[in-house]
Amino acid sequence: MLTSAEIRKAFLDFFASKGHVIVPSAPIVVKNDPTLMFTNAGMNQFKDYFLGNKKAPYTRAADTQKCLRVSGKHNDLEEVGVDTYHHTMFEMLGNWSFGDYFKKEAIEWSWELLTEVYKIPKDRLYVTVFEGDPAENLPASTVALAKWKQLVAEDHIVYGNKKDNFWEMGDTGPCGPCSEIHVDCRPDTERAQVPGRDLVNKDHPQVIEIWNNVFIQYNRKKDGSLEPLPSTHVDTGMGFERLVRVLQGKQSNYDTDVFTGTITATEKITGKTYGFSDNRADIAFRVIADHIRAIGFTIADGQLPSNTGAGYVIRRILRRAVRYYYSYLDYKQPLLFQLMPVLAKQFETVFPELQQQLDFVSKVVKEEEEAFLRTLEKGLKKMDDIMAGSATLIDGAAAFELYDTYGFPLDLTMLIARENKLEVDEAGFRKEMEQQKERSRAATVVDTEDWVGFQEDQSSVFVGYDQLEVETKLIRYRKVKAKGKEAYQLVLSATPFYAESGGQVGDTGVLSFEGEEIMVVDTKKENDLIIHVSEKLPVNITGIVTARVDAAKRQETAVHHSATHLLHAALRGVLGTHVAQKGSLVNARQLRFDFSHFAKVSEEELVRIEAMVNEKIRENWPVVIREMPKEEAITAGAMALFGEKYADLVRVVTIDPKYSIELCGGTHVKATGELGYFKIVSESAVAAGVRRMEAVAGGAFGSWLTDQVDQLESVKTAFKNPKELTKSVEAALAENAQLKKQLESLENRALVGIRNELLQKDEIVNGITFIGDIVEVGNADALKKLCFDLKNNLNDYVVVLAANIGGKPSVAISIADTVVAARGLDAGKLIKEKVAPLIKGGGGGQKNLATAGGQDASNLPAVIAAIRSLL
Ligand code: ATP
Ligand code: MG
Repeated sequence: MLTSAEIRKAFLDFFASKGHVIVPSAPIVVKNDPTLMFTNAGMNQFKDYFLGNKKAPYTRAADTQKCLRVSGKHNDLEEVGVDTYHHTMFEMLGNWSFGDYFKKEAIEWSWELLTEVYKIPKDRLYVTVFEGDPAENLPASTVALAKWKQLVAEDHIVYGNKKDNFWEMGDTGPCGPCSEIHVDCRPDTERAQVPGRDLVNKDHPQVIEIWNNVFIQYNRKKDGSLEPLPSTHVDTGMGFERLVRVLQGKQSNYDTDVFTGTITATEKITGKTYGFSDNRADIAFRVIADHIRAIGFTIADGQLPSNTGAGYVIRRILRRAVRYYYSYLDYKQPLLFQLMPVLAKQFETVFPELQQQLDFVSKVVKEEEEAFLRTLEKGLKKMDDIMAGSATLIDGAAAFELYDTYGFPLDLTMLIARENKLEVDEAGFRKEMEQQKERSRAATVVDTEDWVGFQEDQSSVFVGYDQLEVETKLIRYRKVKAKGKEAYQLVLSATPFYAESGGQVGDTGVLSFEGEEIMVVDTKKENDLIIHVSEKLPVNITGIVTARVDAAKRQETAVHHSATHLLHAALRGVLGTHVAQKGSLVNARQLRFDFSHFAKVSEEELVRIEAMVNEKIRENWPVVIREMPKEEAITAGAMALFGEKYADLVRVVTIDPKYSIELCGGTHVKATGELGYFKIVSESAVAAGVRRMEAVAGGAFGSWLTDQVDQLESVKTAFKNPKELTKSVEAALAENAQLKKQLESLENRALVGIRNELLQKDEIVNGITFIGDIVEVGNADALKKLCFDLKNNLNDYVVVLAANIGGKPSVAISIADTVVAARGLDAGKLIKEKVAPLIKGGGGGQKNLATAGGQDASNLPAVIAAIRSLL
């Protein structure tokens, strides 16, 4: 039996032998593409080649791509673990042709690989062909059909409609007809009864699609129309885990060596046994074995769990896994992080980024699990409260609160409800959920119109490393609308504007269209396209454009980018080489750098880090920038970032070859002396295992310093310019503390006096000892203190104390427990209902003691009278 590693290798070897370049998987987390959060298919990283935005460096490529299908157009989450062949994260094996071979070769090779290399019996294979779609004016795929007829028996060819046989990545983008290959894994007896062709694309667990050959011919536009592409391409995707299951002769993907390692580890940890069934415990095993991969590889690619966007998707997957082991494997401590070493080891040579960051990823996962396990318990208590509140139904709002505040997925709420013979208003829950989605959608949606292109020359080149002003042309533009505001996005054939990436903000500046000046308010990247954002469109769009970057701002930004490299190296030097970049923001005002590290950075370490950076600044190192092959750069010791996609030729920024070598596309100063001085202004925690530093250099350091000195000067002035400022401040603080103590003891003595006077003023009203008076005290707390004090000297009492403290009324009511019980009085209620309106304020408390504060002190006698009248 072939191992999964051998199966993967055979695929790549096969396509290498057919002239394909084997390329690495792109990161699973997508950057620079507003239409996609995660890679959901192998073709994503090649989107620009299909659309003609960029020329591919090769015409044939193959790889295994980490994919995640839990959001957007492709979302399989609910199936995962329940069925045996849909995963959250999976590997998609793929081969590509960029304007090179087309349907004939793609089909031939897929058949050769499956039947001759992998030796899958032909009679178990079925293929599908697009039948056409009149509504979209799409013809049936005659070329594919003719090719298949040469290879397979006709009764193994199935015609498919647009849903199954026309592949699209998302709402817009490259697409085309496809031809799928399905495998019938049923035993022969079953196959004899019902032919496999009847079960193709029918969700039968043993008749499954393994490979899709997509023939990219169109671009789906925003208005829904299809535009033929200038060249045609091949884009194929084969589910690796499904292929392994077929070749290893298993009934389920989870029974292959892709998953058995983590399942066995889960058995050991929980003391439970995986039983291959559909009961909840076995589903839990599968859910864990699946989810751990999605969690591990996305965090390794730089996406931390969070409350929004891609981070929230990861958090949801993680919580889904936690609640499965908590509820169904009866395991109440963090479990997932314990599996991480097993997973990292298994993928060490395929996706080494997990093994390389194992400590970090495990730590992040463990803390997420701990946090959710805490709310899970609180949520369960909340659930008890809701259920104790009777009713036969948990309404939608309550279920949604559990979901939203306690992170309870609906099915967990439903399970617990069922155990207690209660129903959950599912429709109500979904309505609440929809409303919330609506709210967040309305806030973030960006409405993008189609591009208007009108220049032959479609390529867009960045020339801003050495030029800040160039003459160029507008090659396309489009209108966008976000939060009700309209803007334009412009693409130039050559541009000096740096587009936001690698943490560095986009340039701003001016585009001059033969005299008409258009402000560029931001520059962004979409895939590799450089987009200039402006508030209006020039009148004359076809002429020469002078593009000019705001040079001062660019310089200060470059200062902070070079400073970031110096800081990164210093952090590794002082704290250790486990430090890896987890986020970065570089602008003209400051730099912000997030990095993996498990403890607060101490004062002493901060001093050493700053000193190290400033030494490099004083040595005035030239910043040397060179392009070289990636391998060469890595051998030279260059630091690459996890989750970043690099081309074969990389840009390497070196500042003292013994100190800092980084792969980086940003803009930098010529020599470190331009930084002037470097100062860390804050150090804090951002997430589990991630620290954040903010720092300034260059002109921003100057402003920071001036500001500090100004503050210091005003403190000095306030202290009348003492010789030793620190000593004066310390003396003042000590004196202040001393005075506070004295004041407190004086106040306490005064309170004793007031108490004694009050005890003289008691009267008996209807058998109750009543004391009501306006007293002179310095703060509201004193009223409470008096109440406590009086309590020890009275029986069956009601006390109302009022005070005017600096013009503001304050009231306290204290009632003996015996009176609360016998007369049904409630101090909290009295404060709210009787007192608050009279003093124009509010308050509250317990039945035996409550207080209020307000705005109007003129009614204090009325307050006392009102309470007295109740007795
Ligand atoms: P299905 O109908 O089974 O969901 P699909 O039509 O969504 O598959 P494609 O988008 O064509 O699949 O993806 C190409 C291949 O990737 C599929 O043939 C399949 O082998 C694999 N695949 C798709 N989704 C998943 C998933 N969630 N988990 C594992 N493999 C998958
Ligand atoms: Mg699918």
